[in-house]
Amino acid sequence: MYIFDAHSDIWMKSLEERRNGNWDYFMNTHFPKLQKGKVSGGIFVVYTRTDEKVDSVRYLWKEVGGVMEEVRYLKENEAPIDFVTTYREIEDAINKGHFFALMGIEGLKGIEDNIEEIHTLYNLGFRHASLTWNEENHLAAGASNENNDKGITPMGEKAIKLMEKLGMILDVSHLNEKSFWDITEIWKKPIIASHSNSKALLQHRRNITDEQAKAIAKSGGVIGVNACGEFLHKDKPSINCYLDHIDHFVKVAGLEAVGIGFDFCDFLSDGSLGDDEDISHNVMGLENVAYAADVLEGLKSRGYSTSDIERIAHGNFLRVLKELIS
Ligand SMILES: [Zn+2]
Repeated sequence: MYIFDAHSDIWMKSLEERRNGNWDYFMNTHFPKLQKGKVSGGIFVVYTRTDEKVDSVRYLWKEVGGVMEEVRYLKENEAPIDFVTTYREIEDAINKGHFFALMGIEGLKGIEDNIEEIHTLYNLGFRHASLTWNEENHLAAGASNENNDKGITPMGEKAIKLMEKLGMILDVSHLNEKSFWDITEIWKKPIIASHSNSKALLQHRRNITDEQAKAIAKSGGVIGVNACGEFLHKDKPSINCYLDHIDHFVKVAGLEAVGIGFDFCDFLSDGSLGDDEDISHNVMGLENVAYAADVLEGLKSRGYSTSDIERIAHGNFLRVLKELIS
């Protein structure tokens, strides 16, 4: 039994470490924790800076370049990690017992209105993107626009159609509701929310409503449940709250629509996001990725069968990946 983690910001930390001379941070520090947590694959995203003090274009391409260098280094050193771009490569990695990572972009603010750059990202091996990280940009309105007076822009619609044509994964986490519902009219393939929790359990701009969860299920898509404390519980986030969000989505959207998208940021120093998303990971019993396998045990003790747990742990996301990037 292994876990597919649909949202990891590990690049942010590993690139920072490498730039400080620690080339082996990923293999020496992070990889053992992933193994302990039984996480065998995931979507590793390049995060986009959206605060005004940072040039988001420069930041995006600097980080993309950093990822290219990291990938080359790991390949040269024959690290047991495969950077996959197709479903067949995922199957190969699983058969070899390798960790597999899909490269993604969390927020496309850095391409501004140059949607042709999606081709560049695709050709570099990126197969996943979300349109915004909470902010409003050329493509869409994110979760910071809570009055929902804006959604997907005409440029955003073109970007979505291009991603669909190329065979990419469109991620709706971080969008506001209007953008979300606009996407259900444009995108004809399964929708994923890689790291989103339930608004019915906790009112938060980053969480999604039952109606949204049902729409994701109807598209054949999956919601990855997020282990960030702020999105789990107002006062006392714990692994039990995490399991509650899974239970709730299973109840309203069905077992086939639920997966894992931890969003662990415990390894980032405070303030490194430079923006307003709380990165607190004071989640009792689920403090970092080394504890991930306890989620599987928790599901078992809540009465889920082995085949149900397998679907939540990785099967549902793999089903969608087979459809989107085969
Ligand atoms: Zn995020």
